[in-house]
Amino acid sequence: MKRALVCGAGGFIGGHLVNRLKREGYWVRGVDLKENEYDNCPADEFVVGDLRDPQVVSKVVTSDLNEIYQLAADMGGAGFISTGINDAAIMHNSALINLNVLEETRIKGVKKIFYTSTACVYPEYNQMDPNNPKCSEDSVYPAEPDSEYGWEKLFSERMYLTYGRTCDMTVKVTRLHNIFGPMGTWNGGREKAPAAVCRKVAEAPDGGTIEIWGDGLQTRSFLLVTECVEGIRRLMESEDFSGPVNIGSEEMISMNDFAKLVIDISGKNLSIKNIEGPTGVRGRNSDNALIRKKLGWAPSQPLRAGVETTYKWIAAQVEAERAKKVVHAGPALAKHVA
Ligand code: NAD
Repeated sequence: MKRALVCGAGGFIGGHLVNRLKREGYWVRGVDLKENEYDNCPADEFVVGDLRDPQVVSKVVTSDLNEIYQLAADMGGAGFISTGINDAAIMHNSALINLNVLEETRIKGVKKIFYTSTACVYPEYNQMDPNNPKCSEDSVYPAEPDSEYGWEKLFSERMYLTYGRTCDMTVKVTRLHNIFGPMGTWNGGREKAPAAVCRKVAEAPDGGTIEIWGDGLQTRSFLLVTECVEGIRRLMESEDFSGPVNIGSEEMISMNDFAKLVIDISGKNLSIKNIEGPTGVRGRNSDNALIRKKLGWAPSQPLRAGVETTYKWIAAQVEAERAKKVVHAGPALAKHVA
């Protein structure tokens, strides 16, 4: 039985990855600052711990492991990474996690490690035209990511590749493009655009309005988490290819059109109001030429199918929150009336 460590198992993609590894018959240890918020982590062992602390890292990275998946990061959507106010924490926390985990992997002699980088490493100057962004893997230099989050990821992916070249270990690096799906952060400030739009639509009364940051003409592509995990496993199993490689969808859409798609799925009659807000680069889309060439595979699910599943899940969360508020408001309301 293969033994794997998933760092960031309390998070969105980490939780889905643990499920996948368990289905494949792995023994899995998860580690995170917190338990998985939606109980989506059937790990055999789960350690609540801070990977910035070398002692915690020494405890969870053990020499009996076959594989390590390093997904832990201080991250969130544009409201978290593109405002500037969290930049020092993002760089300090995520760099420390990567420095600690990678060095301990070398010390303990674990032979295979996977790292999730991001599309945010790509230079801003290639993503100014919303209809024609360039995100092929080799376009990353000269480097000019538009966020410190992207700079930290670029440093760390270089560090992983350096260990792969100079130490006795195989490394795999992917650049994920906007992953979404059920059991991901949907409120609280760290949610990413697809979840935020689904929440706004689910919360809006029929006939109402939802707000979209920017002019709504900025473009992105979004990939359902199950296909992301499929890509992660395929890259991990591949021979002689470390990456970095994009895992993302090539179905690009403007944010206003994405909002219209969610509204259509909801069956509500809503209008869109564009307001000022952090938007990141003007355009971004995955380029899947390299993953097709190296792995003979690329994500293929249509966006709409993933959004239908995700909207349904987020609408149910919104409904559950609303029900909780009604229960809480009940006694206070009763007192007021009395
Ligand atoms: P997430 O925030 O849900 O998961 C990250 C987890 O890391 C969280 O549960 C968090 O508690 C944990 N963590 C943070 N600091 C830690 C620490 N000091 N010690 C232990 N755990 C710590 O995010 P996600 O969407 O699941 O992303 C997983 C990885 O994929 C991240 O590295 C992220 O940067 C990368 N990525 C995600 C996307 C996306 O669209 N979701 C896109 C590109 C890259």
